[in-house]
Amino acid sequence: MPFHFKKINDADVDFFQKIVGHQHVSDAETTLLDHGRDRTSVVGYQPDLVVFPRKTAEISQILAFCNQNNIAVTVRGAGTGLAGGAIPVAGGLVISMRRFDQILDIDKRNSQATVEPGVITEFFQNEVKSLGLFYPPDPASRGSCFIGGNVATGAGGPKAVKYGVVRDFVLDLEVVLANGEIIRTGARTLKNATSYNLTQLFVGSEGTLGVVTKIFLKLIPHPTFNLLMLAPFRSVERACAAVSAIFRAGITPSGLEFMERAAILRAVEYLGGTSPVEILPETEAHLLIEVDGNYLETLHQDCEKIAEVLEKFDVGDVLFADSEASKNELWRLRRSVGPAVKKGGIFIEEDTVVPRGELPILVDFVQKTAKKYGFIAVCFGHAGDGNLHVNILKEQISDENWATEVPKGIREIFEKVKELGGTISGEHGLGLVQKQWLPIVFSATEIALRQAIKTAFDPNGILNPGKIF
Ligand SMILES: Cc1cc2nc3c(=O)[nH]c(=O)nc-3n(C[C@H](O)[C@H](O)[C@H](O)COP(=O)(O)OP(=O)(O)OC[C@H]3O[C@@H](n4cnc5c(N)ncnc54)[C@H](O)[C@@H]3O)c2cc1C
Repeated sequence: MPFHFKKINDADVDFFQKIVGHQHVSDAETTLLDHGRDRTSVVGYQPDLVVFPRKTAEISQILAFCNQNNIAVTVRGAGTGLAGGAIPVAGGLVISMRRFDQILDIDKRNSQATVEPGVITEFFQNEVKSLGLFYPPDPASRGSCFIGGNVATGAGGPKAVKYGVVRDFVLDLEVVLANGEIIRTGARTLKNATSYNLTQLFVGSEGTLGVVTKIFLKLIPHPTFNLLMLAPFRSVERACAAVSAIFRAGITPSGLEFMERAAILRAVEYLGGTSPVEILPETEAHLLIEVDGNYLETLHQDCEKIAEVLEKFDVGDVLFADSEASKNELWRLRRSVGPAVKKGGIFIEEDTVVPRGELPILVDFVQKTAKKYGFIAVCFGHAGDGNLHVNILKEQISDENWATEVPKGIREIFEKVKELGGTISGEHGLGLVQKQWLPIVFSATEIALRQAIKTAFDPNGILNPGKIF
């Protein structure tokens, strides 16, 4: 893709050093390499320079300068993204948010918090939990990703099925625009009907509209108890069909995750071969089901009801995790699926999402498409949300087939997703790797409206060029 941005020169480096301090600017080869990739398998890009600012005012000066001098800017959180959003495809400057790592306020009176974007999600969750509060959005990467990255990607996670995604917890944002102006997008209120909702526009904008420098979040009371069960199924379709049946029985689990056989086996291997559960030869898929609340007796009743539902779908022996240790082991297994599946090298992860009742059709279609085009697709994901991560692994596939056959299969899967009422990304965003599929789900007019929004915020197109469109 042809870009026409200015390459950073020595005078520019001097300018950035004056703003953030000499030690917080780097053009070291390893730094440029590290900041040239994320957790996709895309390689081959790197920025000219990386800066590590600490204050909003510094970012404001940096952006104003880049805007005037036509320098491309890519904002970076923790670099755990799975869509290539943080990859600086046009070179230029990477702004790392690593030093924006403070929880500024936890307001117990209003059940709210103010955080900087470089705070690690799990750290924040633990801090509010110690005060009896709950911040549910918990991407499986929560131990390493930043809340700012979560906001910018519109992240989800296992708890989204009951509590909602990151977007449902963001009340207001401080943002630096491309021209360096600093704005607030909303208010610290639970309701806000004051014209267009800029806060929600920035959630999921993947660093293309501005740099998020402060985040105002809603919190809720932490539930007292949770129960966890792992259910094995002899058929993938039946496991998926059980998902919507659980809701129809009147229960909203706080987690409802799907792992097909290949996914869980890879996770077991990734964890050194030890498994909290025996994976029987006839088991084709598992559902990990969590319920939470304040009354243990009610939760036990919910689990009994879920077990009754599962019986109708040819479930095997359900494992109930009865201690914190065994619950942690099962969640560790689930959280290891992502890294385990990707461990083997080149992969593409498709973040498909459909209305949850359509999940059995989608899974069946993915399997048939993989067979038709000769690729391996390992599926897992947030089944309660209808969000299926389809991991296509290169492994033995020839370079030619990878380049020609696999994209045909992906196109067919996304067309099916659209037909089922779904879309091409549930929580990872489009970034670099998914943008080619946008015309499958949006018309030319629908895309043009989004491009007009981008132009209104960033007329010179310096912010995260080459992404989304
Ligand atoms: C093992 C694993 C499991 C995962 N599980 C989940 C999951 O369950 N759910 C889920 O949603 N995702 C998941 N992800 C994907 C990833 O962790 C999320 O997309 C996460 O939100 C990215 O955060 P980050 O800080 O790493 O952002 P980065 O990857 O650094 O950046 C992502 C995007 O956000 C932009 N950005 C970052 N910070 C800012 C800012 N302050 N202002 C403006 N733009 C910004 C970047 O420009 C980029 O476009 C997983 C990833 C891995 C590796």
